[in-house]
Amino acid sequence: MQKPYDVVIIGSGLGGLECAYILAQEGHKVCVLEKNRQYGGCLQIFSRDKVIFDTGVHYIGGLDKGQNLYQYWNYFGLMDNLKLRKMDEDGFDHISFGDDPTPYKHAMGYSGFEEELIRQFPKEVAGIKKYISKIKEVCQFFPLYNVREKTDHSFDTQYLSINTKDFIAECTQDVLLQNVLAGSNALYAGYADRTPLYVHALVINTYIESSYKCIDGGGQITRHFERSLKSMGCDLFNYAEVKQLHISQGEATSVELKDGRIIEGKQFISNIHPKATMDLVASGIIRKSYRNRMSNLENSISVFTVHIVFKEDSFEYLNYNIYHHGTQDAWSSVNYKKEEWPESFAAFVPADSKSEKYATGMNVMAYMNYSELEKWSNTFNTIPKNRSDRSQEYQDWKIEKAELLIDKLSVKFPNIREKIKSYYTSTPLSFRDYIGTQDGSLYGVRKDYRDPLRTYISPKTKIPNLFLTGQNLNMHGMLGVTVGSIVTCAQFMDNNYLVRKIKAAN
Ligand SMILES: Cc1cc2nc3c(=O)[nH]c(=O)nc-3n(C[C@H](O)[C@H](O)[C@H](O)COP(=O)(O)OP(=O)(O)OC[C@H]3O[C@@H](n4cnc5c(N)ncnc54)[C@H](O)[C@@H]3O)c2cc1C
Repeated sequence: MQKPYDVVIIGSGLGGLECAYILAQEGHKVCVLEKNRQYGGCLQIFSRDKVIFDTGVHYIGGLDKGQNLYQYWNYFGLMDNLKLRKMDEDGFDHISFGDDPTPYKHAMGYSGFEEELIRQFPKEVAGIKKYISKIKEVCQFFPLYNVREKTDHSFDTQYLSINTKDFIAECTQDVLLQNVLAGSNALYAGYADRTPLYVHALVINTYIESSYKCIDGGGQITRHFERSLKSMGCDLFNYAEVKQLHISQGEATSVELKDGRIIEGKQFISNIHPKATMDLVASGIIRKSYRNRMSNLENSISVFTVHIVFKEDSFEYLNYNIYHHGTQDAWSSVNYKKEEWPESFAAFVPADSKSEKYATGMNVMAYMNYSELEKWSNTFNTIPKNRSDRSQEYQDWKIEKAELLIDKLSVKFPNIREKIKSYYTSTPLSFRDYIGTQDGSLYGVRKDYRDPLRTYISPKTKIPNLFLTGQNLNMHGMLGVTVGSIVTCAQFMDNNYLVRKIKAAN
């Protein structure tokens, strides 16, 4: 009989893979269980008409040598194995509004970022400087974000309870500049009345420091982890959907898979949503108040995406992303009116090894509430094992939405339709089915400055040998999840010991 694993990890998103790596490095016998065929969760890629599309990693920040994510990923042995393309240093993100043709650019590096904003808003020097200085100050506050050992173990919430929109308005009264500063808030699904400043600061800072695209997709991240985990003796199982967590005398003892297999472990880490984790545990075992708190966490909104395949050499590669807002208000589209959809969109061009001059494809995303797909919520579709084609009505609805989104895109690129060879779509249901979130949420638990500790999830659960990791824990995104993996693994070893190991690998 198979001996119990030291650690069983439920879900192979970035957080699950990173925890597996850290713990395997420390000599633990680890097993990773993934419900899909492909490992990686949001790192999954797919190919249509020979173009590779990412699902959840369009660009990555902090990867210049010595920067925060670089240091972490160097420890994981990733940096030598990634094929990356640096984005346009003069403007990696272009923000635009309505009919105004001006692209308001976010440039890379703080001096470039400041200069470019001052060039566009010459009267706002003081406000721009104040904004930058505060963003840097907030980022300094979080030790692991800076790959720094913790010296003070008290938890200070001062930076957690500031509202992003209010803070930006304190820096400048220029409404256009306020919206330019908040213009890429789709990166964290920002809400004007909710999003804490630390979320904005930690995300925007990493991209200002440096922005890269993965050439031929983020699947290379998963492949690296798969290879290195297997070489360290980890067991990875795909098509291994966990249905239940067995508890005996208050401790988790094993997981039961959908196909009936039982996997025993001494410790367990869940890389899936806290609510989904609670659903794995029979009722009556976890205190109701904790279960309710996890189950009632509000999630960020979902998206509808059109994945465009271009005719060969027809559309020039864009080494930047586009955040286009239908109105002058960068915060409004998350609360879009159904009849006005799509109010805004974000467009990302994949970096393809086939050409640096021409784009092979484009991902165009617009916020969408899961409730719009309620009538198809009882259908399920993942390839190749769980293929159940949804109704013709659903297919027609997707085309209608895709056409509306392409119409909106045509405002920025008037001739784009002539260049499209084919397009494909994904909806909130795709995210629900592939990632396993209840509502296809983009980034998991929605942070709220009004009650920051309620939305700040601890890696510890009420079951002493069950821990949480992944985007719901600390922050979403490649860096947020990576920091979360360290937070989780610090439950197994001393936090500062782990930071020193990461430093030593650099
Ligand atoms: C559309 C989109 C665009 C994004 N763009 C970017 C970007 O450009 N840059 C960036 O840094 N970040 C981006 N992100 C965010 C980033 O991709 C995520 O925050 C991150 O990948 C989440 O990792 P995770 O560890 O939480 O795991 P997840 O990716 O959530 O994976 C969880 C895994 O658990 C598996 N699972 C679920 N239930 C079970 C079960 N019962 N049994 C077994 N396995 C199970 C799922 O199949 C999945 O593989 C984007 C996200 C989305 C959705």
